[in-house]
Amino acid sequence: MSTYFISDLHLQDSHPAMTQGFFDYLENLTDAKALYILGDFFEVWIGDDYESPLVNEVKSALKALTLRGIQLYIMHGNRDFLIGEDFCQQAGATLLADPSVIDFDGEKVLLMHGDSMCTKDVAYMKMRPMLRNPIMQKQLLSQTIEQRLAMATHMRGESQKGNQMKSADIMDVTPEEVDKLMTENAVKILIHGHTHRPFVHNWQHDGEERRRIVLGDWSNTQGWQIRYNKESGFKLSEFKF
Ligand code: MN
Repeated sequence: MSTYFISDLHLQDSHPAMTQGFFDYLENLTDAKALYILGDFFEVWIGDDYESPLVNEVKSALKALTLRGIQLYIMHGNRDFLIGEDFCQQAGATLLADPSVIDFDGEKVLLMHGDSMCTKDVAYMKMRPMLRNPIMQKQLLSQTIEQRLAMATHMRGESQKGNQMKSADIMDVTPEEVDKLMTENAVKILIHGHTHRPFVHNWQHDGEERRRIVLGDWSNTQGWQIRYNKESGFKLSEFKF
């Protein structure tokens, strides 16, 4: 049995081929014990009370997965941080805190979305705690669906404008922050997404081997995953739909 990790699908109405690719992916997880979705599963999430054909289809597909006995964990990303308990309950998922340390056959692994490690993005780091503040979120969710949709469109536009001005260095995780978090959490392996720079980084820190496995984002034709089992360890791979 294997455990799978994915992130950064950015599911949205305008990418039906990817949504279908994701549903086919779920069907093919025949040896899965668990699936971890590490953030930015949806391109935008304005609240569990927002319904659409896409949202309903995704909920049904996830629920069907869990009914096959596969455990499902969802972590917030910077785009879908408003996913709440209602959605998780309907999808059969467990909401996973960012960061979380999970034990895989005796190996403790740090799981994160990744945005909180991009500390050189000062403007975003200032905004992040506000967006994660429960009072602020309650206020956001009390707006009408129309108001929230308008706000999401506005924020996405602002973010795209801002990101064009930022250097590649700022958009990636800060190595010192990575090492600090790994030391604090006493782990040798970190798995995250967010940066859309899929890669396996190996390095030494204070004489200790460390590894950071970065998941890739999905497109209309392909996805990225990490497959874990005791025999082969953590394997990052790209696949075509
Ligand atoms: Mn992200």
